[in-house]
Amino acid sequence: MAKITFIGLGNMGAPMASNLLKAGHDVTVFDLSQPAVEALVAEGASTADSGKAAAEGAECIITMLPAGKHVEAVYLGEDGLLSALPEGTLVIDSSTIAPETARAVAEAAAARRLAFIDAPVSGGVGGAKAGTLTFICGGEEDTFNRAKPVLEGMGKNIFHAGPHGAGQVAKICNNMMLAILMAGTSEALALGAKNGLDPAVLSEIMKQSSGGNWALNVYNPWPGVMEGVPASREYQGGFLVNLMTKDLGLAFDNAVKNQASIPMGSLARNLFQLHAGQGNGELDFSSILRLYKAD
Ligand code: NAD
Repeated sequence: MAKITFIGLGNMGAPMASNLLKAGHDVTVFDLSQPAVEALVAEGASTADSGKAAAEGAECIITMLPAGKHVEAVYLGEDGLLSALPEGTLVIDSSTIAPETARAVAEAAAARRLAFIDAPVSGGVGGAKAGTLTFICGGEEDTFNRAKPVLEGMGKNIFHAGPHGAGQVAKICNNMMLAILMAGTSEALALGAKNGLDPAVLSEIMKQSSGGNWALNVYNPWPGVMEGVPASREYQGGFLVNLMTKDLGLAFDNAVKNQASIPMGSLARNLFQLHAGQGNGELDFSSILRLYKAD
């Protein structure tokens, strides 16, 4: 059992913190949203008035925040968390952010003799609730080994991708692939439906054929085809279009910096940006189907 402080209790962070409580850890939580904090307190977590106060006495800090600017605000600067933590504290950031931001936080943490890893996740809200997330870690081997038992309380597959920032690079590649798959799956289902095919039947056929993929298997974008996924609850909850657009922006920026060509990723970015611009930013990303199919 460890004394853990968890900051960022959104769609992902709340069920992750809940699983740490179930695993028997002593968990203190903080979020800017009071209802999010209260829900975890009702499950047995402690809380405090600020992130800094919540971190007092913690052996391990975990953050699950929307984007790089939130991670920088929480950790860096004179008033940041890093300046308040005692030497040796384990610091895990599971947000999806730019590799450079993760490296900047790692550097600031090392200067304070803190043990930092970037540990973004894959598996969605379903995986967070079930405790089956994949963690993709970047950092030193020792820190990874220290973090692993904690991460095992929230996930099933724990990978060490390489040095600081490597977890974020792998995560960005994965999400670019996911966006392409979700847009392609939506396009194929909409074409089939235009031809009078039942999207549920077409989904089954493609699952067993060479077009099979994660979106078809566990996250079908067509309303009513699969129970328990965002498409079957008006695309509420899940992984927001705004967050997918952010991740595709990270992939695009990274490709520019590394002089890599990402034609499919760039197209996916434009599709999701267009969709977000039409007022869909707060819907789950599988709502990209609506670009192809008018309700
Ligand atoms: P979310 O927007 O639902 O939750 C973020 C939470 O952080 C909110 O509750 C917000 O109030 C809180 N927050 C923001 N700034 C804060 C601060 N300064 N101090 C304390 N709390 C603060 O986002 P999410 O869907 O939980 O995603 C979190 C991260 O995980 C993102 O980087 C996202 O890209 C990534 N991710 C999400 C999914 C998914 O399926 N939702 C899957 C994999 C990875």
